Amino acid sequence: MKSYRKELTFNTKTRRAYVNITPHVEDALAESGVREGLCLVNAMHITASVFINDNESGLHRDFERWLEKLAPEKPYEQYDHNGCEDNADAHLKRSVMGREVVAAITNGKLDLGTWEQIFYGEFDGKRNKRVLVKIIGE
Ligand code: ZN
Repeated sequence: MKSYRKELTFNTKTRRAYVNITPHVEDALAESGVREGLCLVNAMHITASVFINDNESGLHRDFERWLEKLAPEKPYEQYDHNGCEDNADAHLKRSVMGREVVAAITNGKLDLGTWEQIFYGEFDGKRNKRVLVKIIGE
């Protein structure tokens, strides 16, 4: 069995952002040489997510509005977590959007649904944040 590990680093210009990382994951898969197996992609930070959904900008604005209704960034003092930090909303948004995705690998390709793309969801950006890609198979 082959095993391959790669870290991706993102530094978004805005506090919140949605980045289509499917091409990066496909690069990692090509580097791994795995033809049949599984690919795990997870955020390595507790204020960011990795999720699969549609690559459609309107939907991403909908996510932004929906998450801001669920866990508004401000006022900061509404959250117990915000003592020396201001990112309680980011922790909550990450919990809703999830930590990781697992995609099947078939014939050396990500075996995704027609409209499925892999996204990095940033909720407390403007600094270097890491995503882990772990690929196992043969
Ligand atoms: Zn925090």
